[in-house]
Amino acid sequence: MKVFFDSVGCRLNQAEIEKMALDFRAAGYSIAENAAEADLVVINTCAVTAAASADSRQKVRQANRAGAQRIVVTGCWATLEPDEAMGFAGVSAVVPNEQKDQLASQMLGKSIEPYELEPLERDPLPGIHRRTRAFIKVQDGCDNHCTFCVTRLARGKSVSTRKESVLGEVITAEKGQVKEIVLSGVHLASWGRDLPGEERLSDLIEYLLANSRVERIRLSSIEPWDLDERFFDLWQNPRLCPHFHLPLQTGSGETLQRMARHNTPEQYRGLVASIRSRMPEAAITTDLIVGFPGETETEFAESLQFVREMQFAGGHVFKYSAREGTPAAKFTGRVNGSLARERSQSMRAVLAESESRYQQQFLGRTVNVLWESSSQLNQRGWKLHGLTENYLSVSAWGKRNLWNEINQVRITEVKGGLLSGEILES
Ligand code: SF4
Repeated sequence: MKVFFDSVGCRLNQAEIEKMALDFRAAGYSIAENAAEADLVVINTCAVTAAASADSRQKVRQANRAGAQRIVVTGCWATLEPDEAMGFAGVSAVVPNEQKDQLASQMLGKSIEPYELEPLERDPLPGIHRRTRAFIKVQDGCDNHCTFCVTRLARGKSVSTRKESVLGEVITAEKGQVKEIVLSGVHLASWGRDLPGEERLSDLIEYLLANSRVERIRLSSIEPWDLDERFFDLWQNPRLCPHFHLPLQTGSGETLQRMARHNTPEQYRGLVASIRSRMPEAAITTDLIVGFPGETETEFAESLQFVREMQFAGGHVFKYSAREGTPAAKFTGRVNGSLARERSQSMRAVLAESESRYQQQFLGRTVNVLWESSSQLNQRGWKLHGLTENYLSVSAWGKRNLWNEINQVRITEVKGGLLSGEILES
């Protein structure tokens, strides 16, 4: 029996399907390369924006068109719109987020016996990106109430994974030759608050550093509050990737208040200064929403100016889309579509400028790249593509397939958001 996994949205969704794949493999299933050859297709959906919901529907249609025999839909879109999801041709079950951890046993109609992770090791999932990096879920849900956010509705209260279980998955990944793990969660900084004891995310990271040997540990998106004083000091350990994705959402204090975010622009500025005082070249990336209800010209100008000042290494800009069930969906002062588009373009231009400036400083320098993809294109050898510790996207030619290896690369060109370089022979 074969299962094919597909996913839309965040790294947490990716982490979840990696775990489900382990459950199915432990139960004797194998992983299919595509939907057509699978007995069962599992799709982990997303609803963070209207576009993500549309992508989720599209994935279900694609699986059905590919001739999938049984399609199971889970994730945020399926949780918020179960009837709609169930109505799609080929869908045999909708598994809400709160039952996702038992998805494999539900589908197999029997409980999955506790299994030793070790003999399974990690195998990158085919069909997604065959990522070398392993995404590991350490936390789910959120106790905050950001007024635009549908994720907290779909995922419920914050729940942390015990550090021993996280370590088990890290060791599995390590034994599967994984060089980089990405710790993922909805609100990572709240890790530990629901567990007995006083442990916080810093303690989890210290514990993983002390008990594993994986070469790189990266954090996925982390909300810019709830971080204790010693948090960034941990990055003295070179195994921690100096890359921080800190969603700002807006640089206007008034808009932040309407969003019910837990920080002010001043606090965010302080956090960024704290990182840069320890790691001047760390990559700080962000998410931004433009056209939030009631966003005036003045607020948008403040936001734009703040983003310019932060000199982000990159980021995503989203035009606000009202999500049903969230407080902001009922707010007055909608920003019309063409104005939101204009603001989005202006914000993207500012981000692109600072991203390019960040990248240019690495021209002529030597960086370490973990190769994520490789293809043999011609006589020159292998076209490789990978990531540095600070999340720069680098390509190079290799004489052999270096997939999942880390090499030193001298950057020779920075163009269109991609760095190219020459691999230095060791
Ligand atoms: S912190 Fe806010 S945006 Fe992030 S998951 Fe929680 S409610 Fe949503």
